[in-house]
Amino acid sequence: MDGSQTILYFQIHYLLTIKRIKSYFYLITNHFSLSKEITYKGVPASPGISIGKAFIYTRSSFEIDSQILHESELEKELQEFDHAIELSKKELAKIRTLSYEKIGESGSLIFDAQLEILNDKFFFSKVSQRIHTEKRTASYVFDDEISKLGQILADSKDEYFRDRINDLKDIRNRVIRNLKKEKLVSKVEENSIIIGHELSPADTILFSKRKVQGYASDKGGLTSHAAIISRALRVPAVVGMKDISKKITTGDFIIIDGLTGSIIVNPSEATLLAYEKKLEELKEYEKKLREILYLPSETTDNKPIGLSANIEFDEEIDFIINTGHCGIGLYRTEHLFLEAGDFPSEERQIEEYTNIANVTYPNTVTIRTYDIGGDKLLPRSEKENNPFLGWRGIRICLDRVDIFKEQLSALLRSSREKNIKIMFPMISSVTEVIRAKEILNEVRNDLDGKNIGYDRNIQIGIMIEVPSAYFLADELAREVDFFSVGTNDLIQYLLAVDRGNEYISNLFLEFHPAVVRALKKISDSAHRNNISISVCGEMASNPLATAVLVGFGIDELSVSPSVFPEIKQIIRKINYGEAKVLCDEILKKSTEKEIKSMAEDYYMNKIKN
Ligand code: PEP
Ligand code: MG
Repeated sequence: MDGSQTILYFQIHYLLTIKRIKSYFYLITNHFSLSKEITYKGVPASPGISIGKAFIYTRSSFEIDSQILHESELEKELQEFDHAIELSKKELAKIRTLSYEKIGESGSLIFDAQLEILNDKFFFSKVSQRIHTEKRTASYVFDDEISKLGQILADSKDEYFRDRINDLKDIRNRVIRNLKKEKLVSKVEENSIIIGHELSPADTILFSKRKVQGYASDKGGLTSHAAIISRALRVPAVVGMKDISKKITTGDFIIIDGLTGSIIVNPSEATLLAYEKKLEELKEYEKKLREILYLPSETTDNKPIGLSANIEFDEEIDFIINTGHCGIGLYRTEHLFLEAGDFPSEERQIEEYTNIANVTYPNTVTIRTYDIGGDKLLPRSEKENNPFLGWRGIRICLDRVDIFKEQLSALLRSSREKNIKIMFPMISSVTEVIRAKEILNEVRNDLDGKNIGYDRNIQIGIMIEVPSAYFLADELAREVDFFSVGTNDLIQYLLAVDRGNEYISNLFLEFHPAVVRALKKISDSAHRNNISISVCGEMASNPLATAVLVGFGIDELSVSPSVFPEIKQIIRKINYGEAKVLCDEILKKSTEKEIKSMAEDYYMNKIKN
């Protein structure tokens, strides 16, 4: 096994035991003689191997049937409409119960509101009447009436009512899906491998509850949020497969290999045996790496390099508990918004932040304020033409001060153990930082007025992920206690390469000269101003980049838990003095190819051997 293989091998999660592979042999014996093995390639997005049945997920954008009905069809249409409404109510009631169990009363109110609309007799008698008189299909009239309601809400001056448009959209999709007799998304078969055209972060989370064994999609790039979530959930994923969702059908027997970015349909006996062997090797390798967890994270010439984990979901907290000695360099809070379908209450947040602070104690946890927008859900229904350049991250928080204050208050109130740091995302100007700090001060004053305790020396940091922040690094460094570089966005914005677009994933280059030079400048600015700098973007989890980041003086790497031991092992083999020399040479190069090959050479000569 060569170096890069071993790294990735470690990341593979043993989703399938050998015993299970053997039982599959039995199940598909006949299958071998009938079907030919075909391999499709995509972008490996989350390592891991799973073998199982495919489930094709179609996020239905339902066509509205606009034809005029014949008199004799009306009765049936009305019956089907009633049936669809009843089904939708049942679904919502179930979701409401589930949500109550998971997130309590406040998070479930959104479903109550939706149920209320479905119980509105006046509204539905109007729809039925129109179906009758205009002889239009139920989907046509229902869609039209919902759009009218949506328009009234959109015109409302009250923000609360404007926000309810999302509820209407959900209802519309649910009822129309039921009219079309389409399956409910969450009814995917347990243990299946989901194949879709495009998977949103919400789909990915929703499916995870069904013990999904893997994700593959036509669209998406390595750093799209759905890909990050798959990695966080430790589920293998392959994205950017162009038209895989058309080539595979539900029930097909497949292997998803998140290491090589392949999907193998109808694997032969030999292929299955090869995977059996791979899994055995992986188990051995993982055992060896576990030992390294307890050794210090420092270079051979004794420079300590902070190593922490990026955490996005409750499921990942186990990693912190199990390792017991690692901080969190990036705690994303967007999942709270996704789960609740709205901004969570301050109490719910306090529960979450206090728990994560306790679990991480005595290490620190850097909690990032909401970075909603971009490819993550937005708290309003209108689509933006350029969401990544749109209403996102700190911009939303500075516009919705009420929401921002609740989050800051929850963070402060959870900070009594003094191990929480607060981080603001998507900062593009000094003014934004000053304003965010002003709001934080107002929250502090409120808490002081109520005699509520909190960490008075709480550290405040920002993410450096927008090119303007790179240019303003010195000024920004004077305003905060730390920087954390979000390479996923920094690269996207610096190189004008959409991080989620599979057609240009070959242009998303971590070793592009502009990227490495930016890292050097940001690191120098941080140190010149005596603040610390970490990297929490996916580049920190790339074993080839470790020596480069260390050589540029990055103090801390916050990485995906799945690569944590591997990156620790690499840090322990790096000589800081040598890494600095490597970086001096790298800065003289003007092409990505040269820089990458220098990083590869260092890796092959100094780490692997
Ligand atoms: C980044 O941009 O690198 C980052 C860590 O933030 P996110 O991926 O959540 O946008
Ligand atoms: Mg980012």
